[in-house]
Amino acid sequence: MADHIHVVPNTPRELPVCYLCGRPIEKRPADPDFALSMDHVPPKQFYPKDIRLRVRGQLTRQPSHRTCSGDYKLDEEYFYHSMSIVVEQANPAIYQAMFSDLSRRAEAPQTHAIIKKLLGSASPVTAGGVYLPPGMAQFGLDAKRINRVALKVARGLLFAETRRYVPPKNMVGFDSSLGEGNDPELYQRIQKATAPKGVYPSIFAYWYLYLPPQRLHWMATSYWESVWFCMAFSDTQNPGA
Ligand SMILES: [Zn+2]
Repeated sequence: MADHIHVVPNTPRELPVCYLCGRPIEKRPADPDFALSMDHVPPKQFYPKDIRLRVRGQLTRQPSHRTCSGDYKLDEEYFYHSMSIVVEQANPAIYQAMFSDLSRRAEAPQTHAIIKKLLGSASPVTAGGVYLPPGMAQFGLDAKRINRVALKVARGLLFAETRRYVPPKNMVGFDSSLGEGNDPELYQRIQKATAPKGVYPSIFAYWYLYLPPQRLHWMATSYWESVWFCMAFSDTQNPGA
């Protein structure tokens, strides 16, 4: 049943499986959109350039169809730019590193359009599902796009940990928080229970925990020590153990 978590075949003769859609990736597909693309989890542009150059080769990459990961590109840009507003307030040191990247990339017309749109949408309304700390300038963030990227990253890390494709619908719990000192309770609990992973934790770190009695996979992620997402994924099927 494709809708459930299943074990990804990893014998050399088997084709790799796309961590986003769960389907095999052909060696030479008729449609080049379905060719193999090793996708960075999280996106590599989340690391400021000078750090990225230092950790190059150590960043997690997972197999995807070019079209499946490509479908997230604009939302990932949106995530990066909108979250930079949060980081600016919560973690000025890290923001300085991000800012040099942002100003360099703002010359690209697409990036510039996103920043313009973002600043144009400033409003006192908090989008549902994303909680902005009191006293902070509140922007009309598109929580749907932000959460979509956070979920993609969590599924990619879960794939890396378990070699299992996890459909989005298996996510049974979600919590997020933005800003210093606002890390969710769930995140704090996972942090106590297990060690963080990540090649450069102040930029990105994650905590993974499997709870057999509940058959739940917990994934907590920290971006720029300013933004937290915690997710729980149901292990709804005994994957042929
Ligand atoms: Zn795919």
